[in-house]
Amino acid sequence: MTAANRVALAPGLYFLATPIGTARDITLRALDILASADVLAAEDTRSLRKLMDIHGVALDGRPLISYHDHNGAKTRPALIAALEQGKSVAYASEAGTPLIADPGYQLGRVAREAGHLVTAAPGPSALLSALTVSGLATDSFFFAGFAPNASGQRQSFFRGLAEVPGTLVFYESPNRVAKSLADMVKVFGPEREAVMARELTKKFEEVCRAQLGELALQMSERKLKGEVVLLVARGEEAALDEEAVRNMLKDALKSHSVKDAVSSIVQDTGWKRRDVYQMALTLEKE
Ligand code: SAM
Repeated sequence: MTAANRVALAPGLYFLATPIGTARDITLRALDILASADVLAAEDTRSLRKLMDIHGVALDGRPLISYHDHNGAKTRPALIAALEQGKSVAYASEAGTPLIADPGYQLGRVAREAGHLVTAAPGPSALLSALTVSGLATDSFFFAGFAPNASGQRQSFFRGLAEVPGTLVFYESPNRVAKSLADMVKVFGPEREAVMARELTKKFEEVCRAQLGELALQMSERKLKGEVVLLVARGEEAALDEEAVRNMLKDALKSHSVKDAVSSIVQDTGWKRRDVYQMALTLEKE
């Protein structure tokens, strides 16, 4: 018994999102594509086979090609050749959404540049799941991927992100969490709110939220296992309160049109254009 339907697929490259933990998080459309594509490719062919087995999708003699960071240059031509022959090619990374800190970027670019259809069957991603459960602002965020391994490089990496006017999201390996948080405290200070989200969608899912200094201390006392996303709230400078933004806007309106004043305040504060515009209209009336 399978939930997948065999469907007619247009020739092209299909990027499939796969579960980040719970196998049933696969979408019905991803299952249909897995059941129907002429060629399957995966970062980890064993994981994909397992997922297909769980959902009763048979390979039925179709090719299942391994495509990952280390063999991409060698394997890409075979996948592009299949597209040239008018075939449908489905690609899945090991877990979550391909290209998001996972292989697929070059494959998508080359396929698109050669004029082929490149499309996505969206679904799970640790990035969005972590943001969703974090309790931190989601109106604006910056996905920074994995920070560098060496502490010095990591700190300069964080320094480059200190002024980003949005929630910062990092992928992290469990045994580096405490070191990364300690470096974050050095760069961002101890007060920003931060979150450690672990094993999302799995049995031991855990979300810890505290000020950065406190979270760093908590995590330094634990030996973490599993998969982890770290999130850090936007900095104070970016999260100016309403009074401060109103004063900046008042000043800007003295020498600029409403449109220009609003644009410059949006850029300087990270506030939403709609809110700043509304504030400008109110100030104009006063
Ligand atoms: N492409 C994937 C996605 O869309 O989320 C991410 C792949 S990246 C190689 C793997 C990293 O994602 C892990 O080191 C961890 O930071 C994060 N991750 C993946 N699954 C997770 C989960 N269930 N809970 C928390 N973080 C997870």
